[in-house]
Amino acid sequence: MTLLLQDLRVPLDVEGASPADLASHRLGVRLEDVRVVRKSLDARAGREPVFIYTLEIETSPELEDALLQGKRRRQLRQPKPAPPAAVPPDDRAPLPGRPVIVGSGPAGLFAAWGLVRAGFRPLLLERGPDVTARGVRWHAFLKGGAFDPECNLLFGEGGAGTFSDGKLTTRIKDPRVGVVLDVLAEHGAPESVRWLAKPHVGSNALPAIIRRLRRGLQAAGAEVRFDTRVDDLIVRDDRVLGVRCGDETIDTGALVLGVGHSARDTLGMLLEHGVQAEAKPFQLGLRIEHPQALVERWQYGRSCGHPALPAAEYSLSSRDRSGARMDVHSFCMCPGGEILPSTEKPGFLCVNGASPAARDGAFANSGLVVTLEPSSFGADPRAGMALQEHHEAAAFRLGGGDFGAPGQRVTDFLARRVSQTLGPTSYPLPVRPALLDEVLPDGAAEALRAALTEVERRMPGYAGAEAMLVGPESRSSAPLRIARDEHTLESPSHPGLYPVGEGAGHAGGIMSAAVDGLRVAEALALRFAPGAVAAE
Ligand SMILES: Cc1cc2nc3c(=O)[nH]c(=O)nc-3n(C[C@H](O)[C@H](O)[C@H](O)COP(=O)(O)OP(=O)(O)OC[C@H]3O[C@@H](n4cnc5c(N)ncnc54)[C@H](O)[C@@H]3O)c2cc1C
Repeated sequence: MTLLLQDLRVPLDVEGASPADLASHRLGVRLEDVRVVRKSLDARAGREPVFIYTLEIETSPELEDALLQGKRRRQLRQPKPAPPAAVPPDDRAPLPGRPVIVGSGPAGLFAAWGLVRAGFRPLLLERGPDVTARGVRWHAFLKGGAFDPECNLLFGEGGAGTFSDGKLTTRIKDPRVGVVLDVLAEHGAPESVRWLAKPHVGSNALPAIIRRLRRGLQAAGAEVRFDTRVDDLIVRDDRVLGVRCGDETIDTGALVLGVGHSARDTLGMLLEHGVQAEAKPFQLGLRIEHPQALVERWQYGRSCGHPALPAAEYSLSSRDRSGARMDVHSFCMCPGGEILPSTEKPGFLCVNGASPAARDGAFANSGLVVTLEPSSFGADPRAGMALQEHHEAAAFRLGGGDFGAPGQRVTDFLARRVSQTLGPTSYPLPVRPALLDEVLPDGAAEALRAALTEVERRMPGYAGAEAMLVGPESRSSAPLRIARDEHTLESPSHPGLYPVGEGAGHAGGIMSAAVDGLRVAEALALRFAPGAVAAE
């Protein structure tokens, strides 16, 4: 019999005790078969931080009855059974031609994983190189080497999050989240990703996991081609029949398109074909950086430095109830991390953040963004990308034209003056003094100034002498959404096309993109049986 012991609050000094000891102590009976299913940290301001556990306990029926009637019964419950998986009907038509997946980011990789599990042998096309070659070339660029438009922080095996913090948190509630965490753990992510409330993997650990996952897909019958960019769709009577990659054409019965939101060339090509899409809200702002030690003090107060505590992180929002300015919120905070040039082509610059698994760097960075509505930038699906490019081009110029970033001390940003000297930052290329108002759309700089002033009152030093800004942070979410049928997930304007993941505007972040990949694989497997290729 299985019971869940919930809301078990564990002080820092007791952290490290075994799950069996924690449960036995709480319930007053010796228990042996106990495992962690959830662990979070409550570090709310003004309180001593505590860990909060949910433990799964295997008991005898007699002990379960006794515990459910005992004095801790309110903390105990029986686990809910998992919902039954949808079973494909027997009379499915075979898919006419093998599925082709474009993009090996989380959406594409997990679409491939789901299809392989359902008996298909998908072909996965990735414009960039494999993750090993990608890592070598990316790090060479950061040390002064040439920029490669097909191999960078955004393009190449693993997609945009490959050299990231690898935060696996998501707001979506979907049972597939557990599937993604299990698959990642089976391929080398720490076991703790299965139960930590805020799991993360780290930029140094992700490449090996992605490599193992891809090798597993290949062993199960998927074909993966690197350095293969999809340049065009093959369309007849609005039905997508295949893709063109350079001189080669590839036919398919289902084109799963998971190209991410930085593939503006590919997204533009879809719009040229008349694929149905709409503008959607997206975020734009700056990236702020502080010494990690400052974040530790804000979050942990007197407990700062306790060995049981993880690197401190924060998430904040600053709202203006009067509606006079835009709301501001933090995005993708990276404890102990670094700020990186996050662009796919020369002439344009934006930044993003990453952390190694240990999160042990000297700096903490976070996006600080406002949300822009289509009413402010235009209803055309291309309008958001055009606005991003406008500000990214300004940033490239202000940063010196060599992927240096424009930067400003927060104190100078508040005073609207160019910094005479800049403080230290983690950005690996030059940071050059600039007025960051010039990389922001109307109203955003004012909103950020108001938010910084307001947050400074809650977190002293947030807008202080040690705080630095670089920017813009313009790729936090997709500025367009490609339409798809609610059930089949197929494009209504172009049957045969299955837009997936962040670039299609149906996900935001690693986890939701991976879950979306699984959803598309399931939707295909419910309609189609693996075709002739699967039987070869
Ligand atoms: C530095 C950084 C840090 C991040 N940190 C986090 C984090 O900690 N947690 C989190 O949840 N999210 C993070 N993100 C965001 C996250 O990476 C994305 O949300 C996620 O990767 C989106 O997945 P996707 O599969 O939809 O697209 P992507 O990951 O963008 O993958 C798209 C893939 O398609 C390929 N491609 C594009 N066009 C073509 C074409 N024409 N032909 C063939 N291939 C093509 C690209 O090369 C790429 O590999 C971070 C992003 C960056 C850049």
